[in-house]
Amino acid sequence: MTDLTFSGLGVAEPILRALAEENYTIPTPIQTRAVPALLGGRDLLGIAQTGTGKTAAFGLPLLQKLSIGHVPPKPREAKSLILAPTRELAVQIADSLKTYGRFLNLRIAVILGGVSQNSQINATKNGVDILVATPGRLLDLVNQRHIRLDTVSTFIVDEADRMLDMGFIRDVRKIVAMLPKDRQSMLFSATMPDDVVKLVGDMLRQPERIEVAPQGRTADRVSQVLYFVPAMQKRQLLIELLKDLQMYRVIVFTRTKHGANKVAEHLNKSGVQADAIHGNKSQNARQRALDSFRSGKLRVLVATDIAARGIDIDDITHVVNFELPNEPESYVHRIGRTARAGAGGAAISFCDGSEKNYLRDIEKLTRMKIEVVPHELPDLTPEQIKQMNEPRPAHGHRHGGHQNKGGGHNPHAPKKKNGSRPHWARDRDNNNKKRGAAA
Ligand code: AMP
Repeated sequence: MTDLTFSGLGVAEPILRALAEENYTIPTPIQTRAVPALLGGRDLLGIAQTGTGKTAAFGLPLLQKLSIGHVPPKPREAKSLILAPTRELAVQIADSLKTYGRFLNLRIAVILGGVSQNSQINATKNGVDILVATPGRLLDLVNQRHIRLDTVSTFIVDEADRMLDMGFIRDVRKIVAMLPKDRQSMLFSATMPDDVVKLVGDMLRQPERIEVAPQGRTADRVSQVLYFVPAMQKRQLLIELLKDLQMYRVIVFTRTKHGANKVAEHLNKSGVQADAIHGNKSQNARQRALDSFRSGKLRVLVATDIAARGIDIDDITHVVNFELPNEPESYVHRIGRTARAGAGGAAISFCDGSEKNYLRDIEKLTRMKIEVVPHELPDLTPEQIKQMNEPRPAHGHRHGGHQNKGGGHNPHAPKKKNGSRPHWARDRDNNNKKRGAAA
């Protein structure tokens, strides 16, 4: 599991001190993924917008790289370059970097159009470690030989789609052509129009691709609720909820392929049109399921996280987390499937006793508490409660939600052929330390 501290991500001491002063205690999702990749020297494509913490995601590794074995820049030279489409953004980036790099001795300068160039020439005369610039004015100053770009070792393009909207993409290309080939590059964009995709192809080398849902905005538009429900009652709860006909295009997420099949089967038996997509299905079968879901023939698509990646379907009314993901980032991806294109949406999560740690990780990552709502299912019978609390043998068969066969774990049921644990328990075992029998 990811270590959710900046120090765990590899950020070094003087920067950690600045972050602590800013009360940044938990890295945001994009920071969690970008910082280690960038510290490892990778190029990066970040599909993210302002508000996700992307400035620190690229800024912290940049500051760290420049400060290790720091050699002061030579006159007119820039060691790193950040391009931003607007003056406001350029100033904001420079301010953030000055804050995060407060205890480092690095020179940071900003170059903007629309103001006199003299003070900017002065600020770069002795060379800079970090240059934040809008493209037009930068080209002017480079062409006048006030600034050299042939020593840039780290290059960042922020808000590339806005560069395109504002007509700067040609200037960006010209600047890329002036840079040394041997460099680390990053590009951030909230959307990926064709011209940005082309730019990515030209300027990044096998980039790490990180896409984060715009959290603030997703959280605003997606209503999120959570039911605490025993595993053995999850299917029943799903059927109850689906009585609400407003749930007409629903994605149900399970952690495993086997789980996806089981849920889809159960829905069909209960009269809800559903199909499952996951990695074990042929491309044709997946395509058929997707087409039927898109056309409205299927009301529910049951999917694993991997299978759902890259699927673009509008008008999904509800996302149901039948099982909470063991990677908290997946929660953000999952709920981002609803509320596309500005529409509202709803995310409903089921959490059984063994998933409380996953819930804690999700709430830590999204920095919000999911509203808990009570369900109206009948209470478990004393017999069921007894079964639930029974110590389970380490390798025996655990209940796997066979409530359709008359309720829960049957200690006398034959062991699976290989004596293995049910799919979900195995999955969990692989990802977490083994929990106690009564977890
Ligand atoms: P950005 O997306 O880079 O514009 O950042 C959005 C806002 O989140 C800024 O106000 C940052 O100061 C703040 N921020 C970024 N990372 C963190 C963090 N890990 N903890 C708290 N605040 C943060």
